[in-house]
Amino acid sequence: MPEAAGCTVLSEARAKAWLARRGIPTTTYQVAEDEGEAVRLANALGYPVALKVSSPRIVHKSDVGGVALDLADEAAVRRAFRAITAAARPIDPQAGVIIQEMAGPGFEAIVGVTSDAHFGHVLLIGSGGVFTELLEDVAFGLVPVAREHAVRMVRSLQCYPLLEGYRGQRGKDIEALIGVLLAVSQLVEESPGIAELDLNPVLVHERGVTTVDARIVLCGAEDPA
Ligand code: ADP
Ligand code: MG
Repeated sequence: MPEAAGCTVLSEARAKAWLARRGIPTTTYQVAEDEGEAVRLANALGYPVALKVSSPRIVHKSDVGGVALDLADEAAVRRAFRAITAAARPIDPQAGVIIQEMAGPGFEAIVGVTSDAHFGHVLLIGSGGVFTELLEDVAFGLVPVAREHAVRMVRSLQCYPLLEGYRGQRGKDIEALIGVLLAVSQLVEESPGIAELDLNPVLVHERGVTTVDARIVLCGAEDPA
């Protein structure tokens, strides 16, 4: 219940800080206060970059025009910064803009946590993108999730053949994905105030994984990030 009293929605940048502390690979994340800072950060990072709106009140950033990908130069960063802030301002006047590297290609997976009154924390893995809606391709596990169960969860997905490598496509780093599941399980075990966690997507590359988008709802606990 994200809107419940005493709950805080962590922005993408803060959620990624939690993940990074747990060794879960994420894109870089830096918040720009103004257009000039966005350009400075992008120049320092190197192109191409992605710009995204950063606001606890905007859950689906692309739906409101809050995501600009593959920006190749300073002019593109300036245009995107203006477009994103113009789109976000009516929803949240405090909205910021986060600058990040573009992640390389990979299989889109979803890793999530929900909390259930009876079962406690439930960990979820699914295939992302169109597969989520079309196939409802997900597997669940109760926290704490043991390695063998994490392996079973991943193997039970309908998309598993795609992760293993299908029709000339190289296999993806399944071990790294299992590592994310175990690290997330440990994170919520140690921080039971996490009521919801959504990593959507986690890109599974041929080598390694990158968490591209992250959201954490924290209830009744301090955000130490
Ligand atoms: P939201 O889910 O809130 O709309 P995301 O941050 O997930 O926003 O961005 C939407 C999509 O854009 C992602 O699913 C991913 O395909 C792509 N994307 C976002 N950020 C990056 C990035 N840094 N590198 C590569 N692709 C990205
Ligand atoms: Mg997303």
